[in-house]
Amino acid sequence: MEPSPRPVGRFAPSTTGEAHPGTLVAALLAWLDARAAGGRVVLRLENLDHTRCRPAWATQMIDDLAWLGLDWDAIVDQEARRADHEAALDVLAAADRLYRCTCSRRDRSGGRRAPDGGWAYANTCRGRTLPAAGWRTATEPLRVRLDDGPIALVDEGGLELTQDPALEMGDPIVVRRDGVLAYQLVVVVDDDAAGVTRVVRGRDIAPSTATQVAMQQLLGLPTPVYRHHLLLVAPRGGKLAKLHGSAPASELRARYRGDELCGLLAGAVGLTEDAAPLRPADLVRDFSWSRVITRDVVTTWAGSLTFDS
Ligand SMILES: [Zn+2]
Repeated sequence: MEPSPRPVGRFAPSTTGEAHPGTLVAALLAWLDARAAGGRVVLRLENLDHTRCRPAWATQMIDDLAWLGLDWDAIVDQEARRADHEAALDVLAAADRLYRCTCSRRDRSGGRRAPDGGWAYANTCRGRTLPAAGWRTATEPLRVRLDDGPIALVDEGGLELTQDPALEMGDPIVVRRDGVLAYQLVVVVDDDAAGVTRVVRGRDIAPSTATQVAMQQLLGLPTPVYRHHLLLVAPRGGKLAKLHGSAPASELRARYRGDELCGLLAGAVGLTEDAAPLRPADLVRDFSWSRVITRDVVTTWAGSLTFDS
């Protein structure tokens, strides 16, 4: 019997600000998922959006995760992977899948609501071509023409993700107007290059999964196992985001030791009953997704963290 291949997981934060409790929970769960199965786990710093990302945030992210007790088999700087991203665009261009989108923001709104809460793109510009000199010379956003039809998909936790991404989300942008290569393309290229077999991430990204599977199919890439987990949410609803300025890592580190915060987070998601201080490595042996709660956890920061789950 062939030994089953060693799983490879990843944690892939955008380096657009300080880590917050939701970032740290997502990192912990992705790390535990891989480590509990004897797998490797990669930290990928998603830093292509130079309008929002700063190198200092990347450095800080690495440090904050180490402070919590997480280690990585590799750290990938997404910006250094440009050649692979461009090669994928060459493949899509050669397959006649890329087109220029000339729609304004106003053109895109007011149609069909997408599963992620935004507006679906109606694929209005599908008839347009690339510039004669190739996709690199485009001055307008580029989209990829997905195949029409449903992608049947249920994640490992049983979350139903079947979707017709071309219709329900619309063809995704792969190159922005400012030349930045877009998330739905680079995420699948980078996961494949790192040999990722398990994608563990927050439920807020779940509506993009079908688009990413469609992209993998266009590029001839394997589809990893997906699992989407709970979110930490603000008391008034909505994801507890760094945008809300709630509990940045610098303030958490001034208040707690790494093992104290790790214990609190483990307790908040159901991995321990007493939320006593511990290190991530202490959670590996008994880790099981059946112990992780599935509902979102209301999180409050007022000098101390409290969780109401
Ligand atoms: Zn368009």
